[in-house]
Formats: sequence, C-alpha cells, structure tokens
Amino acid sequence: MSKDWQKGTRAVHAGTRRSQYGEVSEAIFMTQGFVYDTAEQAETRFEACGDDEFIYARYGNPTVKMFEDRIAALEGTEDAFATASGMAAVNGALMSLLKAGDHVVSSRALFGSCLYIAEEILPRFGVEVTFVDGSDLAQWEAAIRPDTSAVFFESLSNPALELVDIEAVCALAHAKGAVAVCDNVFATPVYSNAVAQGADIVIYSTTKHIDGQGRALGGVILGTREMIRNTVEPYMKHTGGSMSPFTAWIMLKGLETMRLRVREQSATALRLARALEGHENLSRVIYPGLPSHPQHDLALRQMGDGGTMLAIEVAGGKEAAYRFLNACKVAIISNNLGDAKTILTPPAFTTHQRLPQDQKDALGITPGLVRISVGLEDAGDLEEDFMQALSH
Ligand SMILES: *Cc1c(COP(=O)(O)O)cnc(C)c1O
Repeated sequence: MSKDWQKGTRAVHAGTRRSQYGEVSEAIFMTQGFVYDTAEQAETRFEACGDDEFIYARYGNPTVKMFEDRIAALEGTEDAFATASGMAAVNGALMSLLKAGDHVVSSRALFGSCLYIAEEILPRFGVEVTFVDGSDLAQWEAAIRPDTSAVFFESLSNPALELVDIEAVCALAHAKGAVAVCDNVFATPVYSNAVAQGADIVIYSTTKHIDGQGRALGGVILGTREMIRNTVEPYMKHTGGSMSPFTAWIMLKGLETMRLRVREQSATALRLARALEGHENLSRVIYPGLPSHPQHDLALRQMGDGGTMLAIEVAGGKEAAYRFLNACKVAIISNNLGDAKTILTPPAFTTHQRLPQDQKDALGITPGLVRISVGLEDAGDLEEDFMQALSH
C-alpha cells in the first residue's frame, strides 16, 4: 500500500493478499490450520511467526489478516486485531490492558453490554471504575488520578447522541499516563480521526456500519503494533475471541462500500432531522448535525459530519412512541444500527431496559425516546413514512 493513498483507495485495496491464482476478490481461507513443509519449519514458526505465516486460526488467518490490515490502513493505526464481536473487542481491549488494583475512568453513557463490563465485570477482578458524565470535561479532570491506568468512552453515545471531546479527554488521560480507549462505533471509521485526536486504542463493532447489511457479528481493536501484538494478541488468541475467516471476508467486502453507504445514510439523517425538527408531536429531535444540538460545533470539528444516527422524543411518552413505531411501514423495529435498513429502537424498553429509572433519567433515556439508525432507503420515502406515522 502506498502511504499517499487516500481513505477511499485504502478501503478498496489495502491489505489485499493474492494467492497463486491472482483472484480479484479476496479469497476466503476457510481453514483452522496450516501445513508445515518440515518439522523444523513447524518449530521455527512457533518460535517467531512471520508477517505472512500462520499457525492456527485463533491466532490469525490470511483472510482475517487482510481485514485487519485494511481497517488499520483506514483508521491510520499500525495494527489491528479482529474479534468475534464488538463486545469481544471491548472486553479484550480492557481485560488485556488492566489488572487487579488498576483504576479506570469511564463515561456513564455506554452501550448496555459495555456498561455491564465496566460496572459488573471489571470490579469483580479488582479494577476500580469511576463513572463520569462524558460530555463534562471538568468531571473527567477531577476523576483521572495519577494512578489511573485507562479511560474508556464511546465518542458518540448511545442512544442520546452526546459527544465526548476525544482530543481533550485524551490529553487529560495522557497527562496522568493513562491509556485512552475509544469505542468509536457511532462515529464510524468514515468520520473517525480518533488516533490523530489522541486515542491509543480504537474499537469498532464491525457488526454495525462495516458489515452494514445485518449479516454477521464482528469487532476490531486498533492501536500501535506494540499494543496490538504484545498486549491484545496474547489475551485474544488464548481466550478464543478471534474473528472467523468467513466473517472477515464479509467485513472486507463491507469496507469497500462503507464510505458510500455511510455518506448516503448521513445525508438522509440530516434531511430527516431537519424535516422532523419542530414537528408538533415531537418534544425533541437530537442530531449532532443540527445547529440545535448542544455540541454541534464539537461534532463538526471531531467528525466533520452529524453521522447516521438520530433520536426523537415523541410527545406523550411510551404510548405515543409505540403508536409511532407500530405505524411505520418502511422503517423496521429492531436493535442493530448502521444497517442498510432503517431501524427504530425504543431504548428505554429494549437495549436499556435493565437500567434503573434514575440512570435512565441521567442518560436522557425517556419513555418517548426512539433511536433511529438511518438506512439506505429513498430519503423521500422515509420522510413520508415518519410523517404519516407521527400523525397517528
Ligand atoms: C453494538 C455495539 C457494541 C457491541 O458490538 P457487538 O458486535 O454487538 O458485540 C459495542 N459498542 C457500541 C457503541 C455498540 O453500538
């Protein structure tokens, strides 16, 4: 790969490894293991595995390696480790990095399973976690201590779409020698500058925009070669959370079209947000690309775009929200995001059902809130669908 290649070219060509047949589309190496020519070669490979050498698919596989190299080239990191799901990536990054006695500062607004790891699992292994309001820099500054090992946050939170100022939080973390771990799913690799902004580890659930078509679970941990190969890989390859070759192939093909999809989805999201804002049956429209979003300037500075996700609060609470959800004919009710299909989720009663009311209140997860993952349908059809559903 040429260093001068732009993101669009990297997304299509970076990481490609062709077999002796010279295939155009990346091959799926559906194999758990690899044959050695001699016993001596087996011994050497276990001693030190070269760049294009493989031992066992839990450690690495040519198709998975192609995906890791391509997403690392896109994100601008030296290396990547692909995982079986987004949660395997979050768990793997944190567990490989931390040990008993460590202190972590985390934003409170997290994806349900990320919150479970930070709130339930890490403390069980002796890691102390302090939660802060991710959009409040003063809280980060007060919580990060000289002995803090890591900070963890979602750069754009689910479902209330609050931003964490990556540059500022990473600077605070680095000043105390802490590693900054950024779950960047909602920002997508298309609008990510997380590494330039200071993140040491960037995580994606590739289930979302990278696949983008609702087919497979996957995840990836991105960072320096030292971090990925010496800290993350030993944990992942021995605990079994590696990505399958077939999934890696789906994700490779997903990366080729991701920019087109995400840009189209974002353009539609902006159009819908503008059309919905001020509607008499909505009490709020939350979209980082709207000037009414309290962090609109930060969103443009950090991502250069408002992204593919928006949230609306239907006036009249749960009953009114359910009437809206049940009346939509194009958008579907589910819980994935970044998909080609527009997906509606009522977070208070699904993804965040488990949270006690006071936590839901703190995160802005009201009964009338509906999260919208904007898909690839015709924008006019979606607008019409939402308008007719809101009239119910
Ligand atoms: C979906 C998601 C995850 C988990 O990814 P899976 O692929 O479902 O395991 C983690 N973080 C965020 C922000 C997500 O949206």
